[in-house]
Amino acid sequence: MPPQLRVYVPDHPLIKHWLGVARDVNTPGVLFKTAMSELGRWLTYEATRYWFPTLETTVNSPLAPCQATLINPQVPIAVIPILRAGLSLLDGAQTVLPVASIYHLGLVRDEETLENSCYLNKLPEKFAPDTQIIILEPMLATGGSIMRAMAEIAQREADISLVRIISVVAAPPALQQLNTHYPNLNVYTAIIDEGINEQGYIVPGLGDAGDRAFGT
Ligand code: URA
Repeated sequence: MPPQLRVYVPDHPLIKHWLGVARDVNTPGVLFKTAMSELGRWLTYEATRYWFPTLETTVNSPLAPCQATLINPQVPIAVIPILRAGLSLLDGAQTVLPVASIYHLGLVRDEETLENSCYLNKLPEKFAPDTQIIILEPMLATGGSIMRAMAEIAQREADISLVRIISVVAAPPALQQLNTHYPNLNVYTAIIDEGINEQGYIVPGLGDAGDRAFGT
């Protein structure tokens, strides 16, 4: 059977709670930011389960030597927030991945054509072969920005089977494109919504994530 995109919607009350807070149009900006940061934290926690590179070792407890499983510091972990909105998940993701390298990628969407252009690219020239990569893109809508980000990452020799995407709200057009072009990917999202409107916004979604996070 050909590989298929795996989309995980973790069944966790904290994820549902913070999604509800983020969706609410009456949530003030400060609380919206908290909600996105918490979603970044809990979705990263879920995405790293069975994925974090570990090593087996022995440590000495105050009473006796014992076996221990630790995070393997030799395996590089990269987090790529897609600006602007991806920054709102970064604080939370970093509480789970404090030593990950952060590579910013700034993409802006033309509101009329819905085309993306890149205004900041801090990706390395090429990724080390075993780098585990997490992309932070809260809104998977038309697929324009995530497909652009994936192209930039693939062209830097990343192993796509080691890439995980963290989103808050995902919509079918973006998921279909990812499935067609990158079926080895894993996506973690708080919810899959019905679709997008003519302006490219996810419905019901949560509005413009960047504007709400940054008060613009
Ligand atoms: N970007 C957003 O911030 N919100 C959407 O609904 C779609 C794209």
